[in-house]
Amino acid sequence: MQSIAILGATGSIGTSALDVIARHPDTMRASVLAAGSNVSALVALCATHRPMHAVIGEADALPALRDGLDSAGLDTRAHAGGEALCELVASDACDTVVAAIVGAAGLDSTLAAARAGKRLLLANKESLVLAGELLTGAARAAGATIVPIDSEHNAIFQCLHGREAGADVRRVTLTASGGPFRGRDRAALAGVTPAEAVAHPKWSMGPKISVDSATLMNKGLELIEAHHLFDLPDARLEVLVHPQSLVHSLVEFVDGSVLAQLGLPDMRTALAVGLGWPRRLASGVGPLDLAAHGRLDFEPPDLDTFPCLALARGALRAGGTAPATLNAANEVAVSAFLQGRIGFLSIAALVEHALAAIAVEPAESLAALGEADTRARRHAEHAIATGAIR
Ligand code: NDP
Ligand code: MG
Repeated sequence: MQSIAILGATGSIGTSALDVIARHPDTMRASVLAAGSNVSALVALCATHRPMHAVIGEADALPALRDGLDSAGLDTRAHAGGEALCELVASDACDTVVAAIVGAAGLDSTLAAARAGKRLLLANKESLVLAGELLTGAARAAGATIVPIDSEHNAIFQCLHGREAGADVRRVTLTASGGPFRGRDRAALAGVTPAEAVAHPKWSMGPKISVDSATLMNKGLELIEAHHLFDLPDARLEVLVHPQSLVHSLVEFVDGSVLAQLGLPDMRTALAVGLGWPRRLASGVGPLDLAAHGRLDFEPPDLDTFPCLALARGALRAGGTAPATLNAANEVAVSAFLQGRIGFLSIAALVEHALAAIAVEPAESLAALGEADTRARRHAEHAIATGAIR
């Protein structure tokens, strides 16, 4: 029986993971469910999935979680706070961890899973962007298997049969849907609203990654993610816009062969790959009818309209703490945009501003990365508060 901890259980990835797990009651079960602050949604999931432990991120929400579990008549044990989560993730309460907390807030628990040698189904791409070398190094040292859940990286993982990209790989191409604003120019993007930005044409996802898809920062974060997961230099990583979102990525080998993974845009496929690897499991995702879809289109990304992709590539090339700065400034910018405090075009402007102002340091420790993260957040908040970027 595979015992699974789902970090970010109330989110888009978390609920997809629970859907796949519930299809295999004889071989797997959710033993730990964790969320950030939504106590009622967490309790409702506990009532359905009966985990041993429930963890709420906000420490002062513990009484509410206890009350909720009691009133529902559940014997799930209640915990709160980041430390409790890391302890549970490293304990024998689970052997598999689905890391699906959004943002840098997911780093500590993801790292705890890697250090404890768990099977790590990694959706929380920000932790790889922020601390990729530390995270992959910790996984290697502890013998943890990382299965990428991000659909592109899951596709590459499948094409490479779970190994790193060796000298036999000529290049890897990440596909991008292009987001809701594909085909528009900069002027047309100045006044777009949060509701328009999160209305993704192909994928149903949480608000933060949906905005990242609209700015193409998501694809930029994914370049950095691919660099760490598959040990690939920036020069062998490419991006191709593919609006149908059926080809999830491609690996080209030195002999000219190109392997791709196709499937409907539904994260349950990637989660089933992670839960079953190297076996294949039913995921609930229906068959892909290519004749009904008719065509697969590809085009280069528009780097002038969507500067975030080039900013991320620049941070990957710069190395050190640059990706941490990029990620933190972007998190602040996306949240400010969703709150209506800045416009859509200011997201890229804010990230660029932070990257230009904050010196790149070596990414030698978690402390150095944490400092870069804090500095970038302060810088971005200050730029918004003073009206330097609006
Ligand atoms: P959602 O916004 O839907 O869910 C986020 C989850 O994280 C919620 O369960 C939330 O809990 C929890 N959370 C937030 N902050 C904390 C915290 N401090 N401590 C504990 N839990 C916290 O996001 P998604 O599911 O869309 O994305 C999750 C991650 O997966 C992101 O890193 C994203 O980039 C990545 N990903 C997502 C894809 C998708 O299709 N959705 C595809 C590829 C990658 P609460 O409900 O209480 O706020
Ligand atoms: Mg992706």
